[in-house]
Amino acid sequence: MQGVGFRPFVHRLATEMRLGGQVGNDAQGVFVEVEGLGLEIDVFERRLVDEAPPLARIDRVEVIETAPRRQRRFQIAGTRAGGQVRTFVSPDIAVCADCLAELDDPRDRRYRYPFINCTNCGPRFTITLRLPYDRPNTTMAGFSMCRDCQAEYNDPSNRRFHAQPIACPACGPQLWFARQGERIEGTDPALNAAVRALEADGILAVKGLGGFHLACDATSSAALAELRRRKARPAKAFAVMVKDLGVAALLAHITPREASLLESPQRPIVLLRRRSDSSLTPEVAPDNPLIGLLLPYTPLHHMLLSAVPGPLVMTSGNLADEPICFEDDDARRRLAAIADCWLEHDRPIHVPCDDSVMRVAGDLIVPIRRSRGYAPLPLKLPAHVTPTLAVGAELKNTFCVGAGSDAWVSQHIGDMGSLETLAAFERSVAQFDRIYEVTPERIAADSHPGYQTRAWAERRSADEPVLVQHHHAHVASVMADNGIDAGQSVIGFAFDGTGYGPDGAIWGGEVLLAGYDSFERVAHLRYVPLPGGDASIRNPYRVALAHLRAAGVSWTADLPPVQAAGTDELLVLERQFARGFRCVPSSSMGRLFDAVSSLIGYRHRVSYEAQAAIELEAAAEAQSLAGSGAAGNFNFEVGRGQIDAAPVVRAIASAVKVGVPAGIIAAEFHHAVVAMIARVAAEQSAATGIHVVALTGGVFQNTVLLQGVRAKLEAMGLSVCTHRSVPPNDAGVALGQLIVAGTRP
Ligand code: ZN
Ligand code: ZN
Ligand code: FE
Repeated sequence: MQGVGFRPFVHRLATEMRLGGQVGNDAQGVFVEVEGLGLEIDVFERRLVDEAPPLARIDRVEVIETAPRRQRRFQIAGTRAGGQVRTFVSPDIAVCADCLAELDDPRDRRYRYPFINCTNCGPRFTITLRLPYDRPNTTMAGFSMCRDCQAEYNDPSNRRFHAQPIACPACGPQLWFARQGERIEGTDPALNAAVRALEADGILAVKGLGGFHLACDATSSAALAELRRRKARPAKAFAVMVKDLGVAALLAHITPREASLLESPQRPIVLLRRRSDSSLTPEVAPDNPLIGLLLPYTPLHHMLLSAVPGPLVMTSGNLADEPICFEDDDARRRLAAIADCWLEHDRPIHVPCDDSVMRVAGDLIVPIRRSRGYAPLPLKLPAHVTPTLAVGAELKNTFCVGAGSDAWVSQHIGDMGSLETLAAFERSVAQFDRIYEVTPERIAADSHPGYQTRAWAERRSADEPVLVQHHHAHVASVMADNGIDAGQSVIGFAFDGTGYGPDGAIWGGEVLLAGYDSFERVAHLRYVPLPGGDASIRNPYRVALAHLRAAGVSWTADLPPVQAAGTDELLVLERQFARGFRCVPSSSMGRLFDAVSSLIGYRHRVSYEAQAAIELEAAAEAQSLAGSGAAGNFNFEVGRGQIDAAPVVRAIASAVKVGVPAGIIAAEFHHAVVAMIARVAAEQSAATGIHVVALTGGVFQNTVLLQGVRAKLEAMGLSVCTHRSVPPNDAGVALGQLIVAGTRP
C-alpha cells in the first residue's frame, strides 16, 4: 500500500541493524535486499513483520537467498521495472497518538495545529487525485512545504519521511469560521466562535476528512428539533461524536470488543445499546434502542470536542437521501438552508467518503456501512475474475471494480433516485478508473428492470451488461467475503426487504443452493400479496393486514394494525385484496418483520427502512436479557419449497388478543425464525451433502437473529458464513455481482 511508511521503516530498521542493501517496489509488491550474517538476517526478518508500521498490511513474506553484492549502506531504491505495479491507496486513518501528543505540546511547532499528520495517520484516499501517491498527485499539491517540513519529509529517520500530506502552521492548510458575511481567521478564534455557536443551539457545518458534517449539541432538544426540521429527517437516528471512551460509556453500554472498535484507527460509528440514563436528548434517536457513537478522528475533531461541554451530533452534511457534500461551493449552496455557520479549511477534498458504521454481535463484527477507514482497501477474491465493473444495488449503493484476484469495493455512494446520487456514482466510478487503471471488459448489474444502476450499465457498455439476480448476488457476496472457492456450493439464506425476482414477484425470503456460476431457489417464504409496493414499505400496518388476510385471520378491532388503519381505508384495502388490484406477490422476510412489529402494536408507520425491525429486535433482546427466553410456541410450516408464515401470524394474533406482552411475542418470533432456518438448513444439507450455510441480506443486521442462527447451526455441525468485510445489506451486493459476472467463462 502506498503512503503508509513501509519503505522508510525498512530503511530505519536495516540502518539501525547496520545491514546493507535496498528496499523498493516491484510488480509483486515490496522487495528488500539485505546483506549480513545469517543470524542478523533472521532477526531482521522477524522484526520486519513484528514492528511494521500500523498501516502496513503484510500478506506474505517470501525469502530468497542471493549472492552478496557487498552493499555497505542501505538505501531506498526507486520502482523496479518488470511489469506494472499494482499498488493500493490507503484509506484515511485517524490521527495517531504521537501526533496528538504534539498537538497538545506548547513547545512543538505544530502545537494546536488542526491539520497535523504523519506517515502513520491522516488523510489518504480522500486527497488522492491519481497514482502514484505522491504529493503533486494529491490535493496538497497547492501547498508548498516550508524548509522545516521539507527537511522532515527528506529525513528517512523522521516520522514524517515521505508523509505526503505533511504540513505545519507556516505552510499548510488553515482553519476559519464563517457566518453570513462574517469570517474569523486563526485556529483558536475560529474554534471559539464555533463553540459559542454550538452552545447557542446553532447548527454548525464542519468540513472534515471525507466531506462536511452537520454538528449540534446532542443534549439540546431545541437544536435537534431544528436540525430535523431543516434536514427533513423526522426520525432516523443521528450519529454522536464524543470526546473519549469515558464519555461514550455514559451514553451507551459498551463491551470490550465494541470499545476497541470505537478506538481503532478506522474510527467507525459503532451502533451500541443506549443507556436509559444518558444525557442525550431523545430526539437524537427517537424510539431507537441503539445509538451510533464515534470518537474524534481528525485533530480538528479532537480540538472541537475538547472545547465543547458535551457530545455533538455529527451527521453527514447532506439533504435527505442526497450524497454527502464535500466541495466548498457545492456545500455552501446545498447546506445553506441547514447550517447557521461554518468551520472550514482550505485543504480540498477530492474523494467524498462518509463515516463507516459497524455493529458487534458477540465475537462477530457486522459491517453496516463500509466507507471511511476501510475503503478502498482491496479484498482478496477466492477466484480469478475478468476485469469487471459491478454497479451494485439501488439503495445504499456501492460499486465494485475487480481484476485477477483483487476487488475494490467503493465507499458508500447513497440511495439512487436523485440526480445528485447518480452524479456522485459516475464521478466515483471515474475516480476508481483513474486510480486503479482497470479497464473493465464486463459490466455487471442487478436484473431489476427499474434500477437506475442497470440503466446506467446499459448506456455505458457496448455489450449487454451481465445481469445478476439480487439474492444470488447477496449469497455470492457472503461467499466471496469468506473466501469460498469457485466450484463450491452453499446453502444460502438471503433475507432482505426487496429484490427483483425473475417471476416478477418481490423476493426477499430466499433459500438458494448457490455457487458463483448459478443458483437454484430451493425454498422461499410463501408469497403474500402486498398492496401498492412502496406504500407497503412505509406502512407496516398494511403489510400486517396483508399477512393477516393471507393467514385467514379476520380484521377484528382488537388487533393493532386494524386500529391503525381507518375504517375507510380498511374498506378500500379489502376491495383491493379481493380483486388483487395493484397487489404484488412477495416473499419478503424484511416485510414479515415489519408486519410483526405492527401486529404487536409497536410501529405502524416508518419514515426510514428497518425502523420497525430495529425495535422488534430490541424487544426480543430485552426479553432474553431479562432471562425469560422463548418457549418455541410459534412455528413456520415448511414443505415442498414453501415456508409458510401463516401459522406464526395466527399464533401472534391469538397471543395479542389474550394480552401476551409484546416483548415475549417478539422473542418468540425471533425464535421461530431461527428454528425455521435450522430446519430448512438441515433438510437441504441432508439432501445435498452441503455443509456450508451462508447468511446474508439486510435482515441479518439483526444481531439477535444472527447470533441465534449461528449458534444453532454450529451446534448442528454445519459451518456458517457471515459477512466480515462487506455489509449483509445491499451495500454488499456489488461484490457478489462482481464475482458472479467476473468468473463467467
Ligand atoms: Zn500521526
Ligand atoms: Zn511547514
Ligand atoms: Fe437486498
